[in-house]
Amino acid sequence: MVDVSCLICGGVYHETVAFAAEIAEQKELLRRFHQQRQRQDAQADLKDRTTFSQDYSTEVVRCLTCGFVYRNPRPTLRSVTAQYADDQYGEEHLEAEFQAQQRWAEWKITAFAQHCHFTSRHPVVVEVGSFVGGFLAAAQQRGWSILGVDPGKEVVNFCQARGLPVFHGTLNDATIAARSVDAVVIWNTFDQLVNPDTTLSAARRLLREDGHLVLRVPNGAMFQQGVHWLKAGGSRRRWAIVTLAWNNLLSFPYLNGYSVSTLDQLVARHGFSRVAVEVDTLMTLSDQHTTLWGQWEERVVKSSCRILAGTTTLLPSLHNMVSPWLDVYYAVSGDAATSPPIACPA
Ligand SMILES: [Zn+2]
Repeated sequence: MVDVSCLICGGVYHETVAFAAEIAEQKELLRRFHQQRQRQDAQADLKDRTTFSQDYSTEVVRCLTCGFVYRNPRPTLRSVTAQYADDQYGEEHLEAEFQAQQRWAEWKITAFAQHCHFTSRHPVVVEVGSFVGGFLAAAQQRGWSILGVDPGKEVVNFCQARGLPVFHGTLNDATIAARSVDAVVIWNTFDQLVNPDTTLSAARRLLREDGHLVLRVPNGAMFQQGVHWLKAGGSRRRWAIVTLAWNNLLSFPYLNGYSVSTLDQLVARHGFSRVAVEVDTLMTLSDQHTTLWGQWEERVVKSSCRILAGTTTLLPSLHNMVSPWLDVYYAVSGDAATSPPIACPA
């Protein structure tokens, strides 16, 4: 574990959003939450729902200068990278993930194409952290030219066996011609990047002048507000539990909790400016092992979030509590700043 400063502004002063003991309580709350919603006859292991690929136990803090929410201390760069490279899921689990992700991608890809304003019918799209390749498959079906990038050996083999081109490694190491890409998208892992500046600088180099960068992140501001609501009790606590749990925000299994504002500041130094934000929820978690009432609860909670997030009259604190995930679209707007990004300890 290493102590880190704010990667947005370099600030070293922060306040605690959730102490390590509170994160541990939230983990237990999450385990009980899914256990209560599991069918009696289901044999399924709850591990997938409550044990995340990156499982952190340290506190979550908020920068006093810019408001960025992040985990501190965090694991070293080397240990995070090694964990991803060696992740093992098993063929059956990957296949189920692929089916779910492809259904999600087929729904998501229309908004993606609209916001990226592709001028070519066959745009070149690179996905960083392509995982099982559900989005790549949906894009390939549209005739797009695609490339995935992922450090996980097992998921790269899984994609390649399905005819999906994926580079094993990082965006920085992939051999892609400069200014040849129409869109770089990171649906899954931007919040887990120890040093996002490296990836953003590679994305800027590869994108055409009219290219787009698309980032999907768990909303750090919602987690911060959610911690207050958990302590408040009553209906606010109940809402916090169901929205945080169904959206994988309870116990915050991420390194970084961006908001639109902190994400804007980070990407601006690489020459990007925001063109659109879409509030979203996590793709469906319940399955055949979930009770019927659990499946309905998830649908109602997520539909409510999507409807209420579009209501402009909500107070900021209420708006945060219905905005679990953020899809943020950026256009190339200029050159990268000449000042170096915040130094990232290994
Ligand atoms: Zn800061």
